[in-house]
Amino acid sequence: MSTESIVVVGAGLAGSAAALTLLKAGFEVTLMDRRLPDPIESGDRLRMRVSTLNLASVHLLDRLGVWPEVREDRAHPFSAIEFWQDEPDHSVRFEAQSADFIRLGAVVENDWVCQHLHHAIERSDAGSLLGDCQVAGIQQGRREITVDCADGTSVSAALVVAADGPNSFIRQALGIEPHWHDYDQQGLVAVVKASSACDQTAFQRFLADGPLAFLPLGNQQFSIVWSMSTAQAMRVKSMTDSELMDALQEATQARFGALTLESARAQFPLRRMHVDRLVEGRCVLLGDAAHVIHPLAGQGANLGLQDAASLGQVLAEGGISETSLRRFERWRQSDNQVMARSMDVLKASFSQRQNLFSRARDGALSLFADARFAHRPFIMHAAGFGGQVPELMQARRPGWLDR
Ligand SMILES: Cc1cc2nc3c(=O)[nH]c(=O)nc-3n(C[C@H](O)[C@H](O)[C@H](O)COP(=O)(O)OP(=O)(O)OC[C@H]3O[C@@H](n4cnc5c(N)ncnc54)[C@H](O)[C@@H]3O)c2cc1C
Repeated sequence: MSTESIVVVGAGLAGSAAALTLLKAGFEVTLMDRRLPDPIESGDRLRMRVSTLNLASVHLLDRLGVWPEVREDRAHPFSAIEFWQDEPDHSVRFEAQSADFIRLGAVVENDWVCQHLHHAIERSDAGSLLGDCQVAGIQQGRREITVDCADGTSVSAALVVAADGPNSFIRQALGIEPHWHDYDQQGLVAVVKASSACDQTAFQRFLADGPLAFLPLGNQQFSIVWSMSTAQAMRVKSMTDSELMDALQEATQARFGALTLESARAQFPLRRMHVDRLVEGRCVLLGDAAHVIHPLAGQGANLGLQDAASLGQVLAEGGISETSLRRFERWRQSDNQVMARSMDVLKASFSQRQNLFSRARDGALSLFADARFAHRPFIMHAAGFGGQVPELMQARRPGWLDR
């Protein structure tokens, strides 16, 4: 085992990006997962699980050298964000140009991004990718840490990065307690096709029961993320596909014309989770293993990518040491908590309907909608440039992002 070796457990977006970032920083990296995604060919149907990557995340993928392949034919750019509550005519629209950007990010299938990160890891001399490795044990030593897989494989390294998702086995094995908050809401995700033409805008309608996002996938298709109360989710679950499309059309005030379902649909409970510490001995948590937030602003994957870039930066600067890991922990805990709290404030303020607070909010929003000069700070945050931005996510070069 080399003193520069790292095992990353979990080959989702956060773990795969962390593995490639650490390889580029000069470490030897083994990335393992219990199951790698089935390969996607360019003509395949869109998969249901997509993420809205902000500009900072796109910069990271670009700096890691995978963005040109990712964007090739399955990344769908957006250059404006528009949200509304009651009247589509009173929507608030943020344009990339208000912050001198051409685009704000792209909607991409998670598996498509991971596939290209995995190819890059396999191509590198110091990287390896292991599928079918269900981690079932972890042993901390003074000089090394060992992960044991269910099939008998064991790998030792100087550091383990746990990116094994919201129900992290490693987090539990280390005795790090997750703090869960149940929103009593469910998210419905699906891909739909609209009958009316649409541009590169990500839409969000704030309904009393929760936000409904329409994320552009090109070719008049949208990925929808509809957050709703558990009671409404039960009603929606029993609807036929065509009843669901009618309900969706009503919820969007027919803004996208008639809608047809283009994928399977999935529903799951919405929860928030945080942990008090990200580091235990020679192990560090990141991505959804470390934090889960409400999907209303589509920031969960972006936070995981920020974790990956930050970890790469602190280890490149300080090597694998307790000091570096503590630096990572302080950096990410503060950014992640700010994001989780912002999601809760947004969610709470838009669920208020008929009271003094809601009138004050609506008044402030309509002033804000007209005050274009005030949009820049909001756009900078939405594009991922709020807080302490890791170096790999900062804009350095022109290209797809800026043309
Ligand atoms: C409805 C919804 C919509 C969303 N939309 C957006 C969006 O638009 N933008 C955005 O930024 N975020 C979005 N998110 C959040 C985003 O999807 C997640 O934050 C992100 O995908 C988490 O990535 P991850 O790599 O940390 O975890 P995961 O994707 O969960 O990956 C964890 C990996 O670990 C592996 N694993 C688990 N246990 C083991 C084990 N014991 N041994 C080996 N491997 C193991 C799993 O197989 C998996 O591959 C959304 C979330 C929801 C719920």
